[in-house]
Amino acid sequence: MSKNTGKHIMANCKKCGKEIYFLKTKNDKLIPVNRDSISVVDRIAMDNGRDVMFQYGTHISHFATCEFAVEFRINQSKKESK
Ligand SMILES: [Zn+2]
Repeated sequence: MSKNTGKHIMANCKKCGKEIYFLKTKNDKLIPVNRDSISVVDRIAMDNGRDVMFQYGTHISHFATCEFAVEFRINQSKKESK
């Protein structure tokens, strides 16, 4: 199983300076997520050392909103509004 690091990863976007959290995807990769889209429940889980999985529709990828992200924008065509 995947390693549990026991700490959440918070950072600032190198481009725009916004606070972001890194969440895990199903592929075990880390994705930067806007802090605004992290719920209190998510943060408590992370504080308790649990991994919070990135969920489309709940978490907003910083790649999608960063004004400097054009260069590293990934394929977001699967985005569905609910
Ligand atoms: Zn940014």
